[in-house]
Amino acid sequence: ARAQSMEITERPQVGYEDIGGIDEQIREVREAVEQPLAEPEVFEKVGIEPPSGVLLYGPPGTGKTMLAKAVANKTDATFIKMAGSELVRKFIGEGSRLVRDLFEMAREREPAIIFIDEIDAIAATRTESKTSGDAEVQRTMMQLLAEMDGFEARGEIRIIAATNRFDMLDRAILRPGRFDRLIEVPEPNQEGRERILEIHTRGMNVSDGIDFAALAEETDGYSGAEIESLATEAGMFAIRADRDEVRHEDFLEAFEKIENDDSSDVISSA
Ligand code: ATP
Repeated sequence: ARAQSMEITERPQVGYEDIGGIDEQIREVREAVEQPLAEPEVFEKVGIEPPSGVLLYGPPGTGKTMLAKAVANKTDATFIKMAGSELVRKFIGEGSRLVRDLFEMAREREPAIIFIDEIDAIAATRTESKTSGDAEVQRTMMQLLAEMDGFEARGEIRIIAATNRFDMLDRAILRPGRFDRLIEVPEPNQEGRERILEIHTRGMNVSDGIDFAALAEETDGYSGAEIESLATEAGMFAIRADRDEVRHEDFLEAFEKIENDDSSDVISSA
């Protein structure tokens, strides 16, 4: 069951240079997670504890997982990922058991970055209905906080959580000593989208005629993940046209296709 629900990567192949449009967030994550791992003595000398846990929040596909992986890469740490939804289990004690396994795994492989995606699944504000399921979810969260209390803040395990639903979180998890460093990861702006387009076309055979600024303008509201799909789709259009070079027009066709697919989704789900 362990291997099924956890994703373990010895040293993820993601660098800060692969992440576009969120330079300020990269800087904050480096200070809150990378530096305590790489230079614990700096914190010792000054006499402060680094943040216990870091919470990344913002819309889907904006680079939260990439950020956590890039820190693991930079510090040569094991990256251990678990989705909050995986921790919501049917049987009593199962969720807490998984949390214990998670930290045990991290201790065996330190330095390690524990990344809990969709933390809202176990840390949402409790509803009125006090069902037994709610109580079990609550126990799982308490176990997570207990594990966080248990380790040395200057030690070799750092914990990062992520959510798309910041509004739903139980404020209790944001108290000092818990997830006490909040970093918002927003949708990319014009400049960010341009940068992300460049990143995702780096490995592609693109023609000189591509106007990245125009494409970035066109993709207002797109996440990094959506821009990545756009680039792949543009490549598909080049292949269909029997070319090995991807042109600006391929991006425009890809854009049309994605926009039309989206609107048909809306119609079919209505
Ligand atoms: P979720 O909240 O849905 O878990 P996330 O914020 O963790 O999403 P990632 O998993 O980091 O998003 O991003 C998914 C993919 O989208 C990445 O593997 C990458 O290819 C692309 N991507 C997302 N954001 C960026 C970015 N800022 N720069 C470059 N690529 C990005």
